[in-house]
Amino acid sequence: MDCDTCDREAVMQAAYSGRHLCEPHFCRSVEKRVRRRIREDTLLDPDATPDDPETWVIGLSGGKDSVVLTHILDETFGKDPRVEVVALTIHEGIEGYRDESVDACVELTEELGLRHEIATYEEEFDVQMDDVADEDPLDMAPCAYCGVFRRDLLEEYADEYGADKLLTGHNLDDEAQTALMNILEGDVKQIAKHFDASIGDFEDRTEQEDFVPRAKPLRDIPEKEVALYAQLRELPAHITECPHASEAYRGEIQELLWDLEENHPGTRHSIMSGYEELAELAADRYGGESDDTTNLSECEQCGSTTSNDVCRKCRLLESMQAV
Ligand code: SF4
Repeated sequence: MDCDTCDREAVMQAAYSGRHLCEPHFCRSVEKRVRRRIREDTLLDPDATPDDPETWVIGLSGGKDSVVLTHILDETFGKDPRVEVVALTIHEGIEGYRDESVDACVELTEELGLRHEIATYEEEFDVQMDDVADEDPLDMAPCAYCGVFRRDLLEEYADEYGADKLLTGHNLDDEAQTALMNILEGDVKQIAKHFDASIGDFEDRTEQEDFVPRAKPLRDIPEKEVALYAQLRELPAHITECPHASEAYRGEIQELLWDLEENHPGTRHSIMSGYEELAELAADRYGGESDDTTNLSECEQCGSTTSNDVCRKCRLLESMQAV
């Protein structure tokens, strides 16, 4: 099958758009969609200047999503003096998994000449995810601990580096899964929080001065296209699954979405376009009222921002010490 725009052989066919694209046109199309998202979200503050640049921290795990995001951001803003990029890798302490992906991060950032920082659960919290998964003091899925620890470190380091934005590599599939999970759980405040935290134009979001604003520039790109882009551009992405991956409900939603997308191409896009509108309405109704954004104070133990006396990360760490 030929490319729709030239006579080269197509490397992909997108059922949702009916388009066939060759390698150069496919890669250009991914880059264009990411740049359009960056523009539409006004990711770059119009007031940023070479003398007063923005600092963006990218959560770089070494997986395909964050590697593709880092690559495209470097291509787009690598020479722009209004933006300074710091790549931050979190090492959870998972044997046979994270070491190799850290190698991929080092290779990529050296190649691009980017500042790269690594933070570990062991140095910061004196725990390793392998031990947390073995001991599991609260009888929860490993990801429930890991997600809290990771969010805390990303937030802490983004703050330490003076970040204006915290960028993550969530793709269209990740976002459509989250949207569907929030809707199926009937949690309207969570939907409002999702909008406030990471959807839409920065100028329109509810003010949350205690948190570094999040951005997900890959959120229009389907997961398979991110993977194909990484492969075609020969990026050093590390593609193995974490041995503790255990978000059972998300896995069910993922399979449901795959089936829906196969039978009704475009489902993920339509979920997101309806969800974003709905989330904006929910944020108008609950913005600033949603549980985690009211009565914020400092955690008595670590000083991080929390809506309780002691933050969730400290409570989880306490439960580990009690084992
Ligand atoms: Fe952590 Fe779960 Fe991701 Fe593994 S799959 S790195 S345990 S959040």
